[in-house]
Amino acid sequence: MLELRPTCEQCNKALPPASPEARICSYECTFCAACVEGVLGNVCPNCGGGVTERPIRPSRNWKGDNYLGKDPAGARVKHRPVDPALHKMFAGEIGSPPPEQR
Ligand SMILES: [Zn+2]
Ligand SMILES: [Zn+2]
Repeated sequence: MLELRPTCEQCNKALPPASPEARICSYECTFCAACVEGVLGNVCPNCGGGVTERPIRPSRNWKGDNYLGKDPAGARVKHRPVDPALHKMFAGEIGSPPPEQR
């Protein structure tokens, strides 16, 4: 189950479970759309993989207790910003292949 981390790891902006701005990598490293656009590109600074939109967990119990009321969002903040210049070098080493070819 996704942890639904509470903030962007780059700028610490709040990313509540319903935020359409939340992006995650396959390890659930979590960022806001603005940091992905402006700083990270489609390269997670922790694993080098791509990021994608974080799915939104329903707030209502539509079926089988699979909702935020039973499985709330995570509260543990992970704020570990990268230096944009260093990230540029890292992303440059990876080069331009799309995530499915990295
Ligand atoms: Zn951010
Ligand atoms: Zn990652």
